[in-house]
This record gives sequence, structure tokens and C-alpha cells, in this order.
Amino acid sequence: MRNPKWHRDEIILALDLYFSPNRGSIDKKNPKVIEVSKIINKLPIFSIRPDAEKFRNANGVTMKLSNFLKFDETYTGKGMKNTSKLDEEVFKEFVDQRDKLHSIASEIRKVALDENIKLKIYQIEDDEETINDSVMEGQVLYKLHKVRERDKKIVQEKKKQSMIDGKLYCEACEFEYQSKYGELGTGFIECHHKMPLFNIQISRKTRLDDLALVCADCHRMLHRRIDTLSIENLKYILNTTNDGHVNFLK
Ligand SMILES: [Zn+2]
Ligand SMILES: [Zn+2]
Repeated sequence: MRNPKWHRDEIILALDLYFSPNRGSIDKKNPKVIEVSKIINKLPIFSIRPDAEKFRNANGVTMKLSNFLKFDETYTGKGMKNTSKLDEEVFKEFVDQRDKLHSIASEIRKVALDENIKLKIYQIEDDEETINDSVMEGQVLYKLHKVRERDKKIVQEKKKQSMIDGKLYCEACEFEYQSKYGELGTGFIECHHKMPLFNIQISRKTRLDDLALVCADCHRMLHRRIDTLSIENLKYILNTTNDGHVNFLK
């Protein structure tokens, strides 16, 4: 049985090693390659690994690193012929943003080593964004975002702090559930973590100011472009007639 295709998060970790000034040779015996293989094996992404022995082993990581050669303009030799589209996409996204890549990779690594957070991440359902692999920072940090904004205790505090005459309003579109759904909607609103994913830190305790209260529709829209769209951007979109000039969507 074959293992699943590489996920964006895994490619990010391999690419971070590829660009590392101390990488060493692209070789399965290189201790750095072996270390990345071990970290990838700890990621909370694939719980089912049809061929566990070969799953992202040092040989697999070596192959992935060789794949990147094909897109690397500084490399003059021949690259691998069979590369995946996602490899190319991720390479091009980060080739000129290596510091950003490194900070994203470092945070993904921390998650890989934190059993507590991993358990919570495994409980987060997949949605359109994870299935389409469309979040630039990868699925692990995206799910960490969801873990954070669903922390019952802080969400409760946030609601308490934001309540006006017993009502909670969406910070983007001002929707209020009770006026539409009556008693059924009392106290209902969703919570969104405002920190951009590339800045999200596993060690940082969520503060009330990190959170925004939003209606379910606005929350979905924010997640569709989670790497670029802020509440202010969304407000702007809502207040602008859509003449095709709203430029926050990448
Ligand atoms: Zn809204
Ligand atoms: Zn959110």
C-alpha cells in the first residue's frame, strides 16, 4: 500500500531544511535529513500510514529535497523529472520569503513535539481549507488557530466583555443573532483568533484582544482567506459595492 501524498506542512519542513545555510548534502545519511524525517513523522496530519516503515523516511526526505533542485535558479545541474505541483507552488511562495518560511516551520516543529496540543489538533475537523490545502502556512497552524478560538474559557470571557444590553454583535457586519432568531439566538456568536497564522505562537497564551466576535458567515469568509484577510478588510468588502476592485483576495 502506498503512503498518502506529501502535505503542504511536510513540504514546508523539507523546504526549510533545503534553504538552511547549514543544510549539508542532500543525502539520506545526513543527520539533518534524518532529523526532519523524524519531525515529519510526529506531525498530527496523517493518523493512517499504509506503509509506516517508508512513511517520510530519510530516503523520502532526500527525494523531496532533490525535487526542489528543479525550481532552484541557483542550481545548474539537472533536477528530478517527476515533481509535484504542490512542491513547485510551495517553493515559489517561499523562495523570496525564507525568514517567514523559517518562522512558520519552527512553529510547526513545536507543535510536532507537543503531545497535548497534538491531541487537540487531531480533534479539529477538516474543512474546505484543509481539504484543498489552500492555507499558505499549512494545516497544522490553521488547526492550532481553531483550537485557540474554541477555548471555552476565554471565549466565555470575551462574550462577557463584549455584551451590550444582553446582545452580541458581529464585529464585521454587526449581525446580531437574537434579533433574527429570537430566544434561540440569545448569546450565540462565534469567535475568531485575529493573529496572522505566521505569527501564531504555541507558547503564547490567548488574550481577549486576540479574539474577535463574528457571525458564522463572516467567520467562514475570514477562513477562506485566512492568510490575508483581516476583520478590517472584510468590513471594507462589506461596505464597498463589489466593482471588482476589492483587492484583498490573493
Ligand atoms: Zn458577520
Ligand atoms: Zn477563526
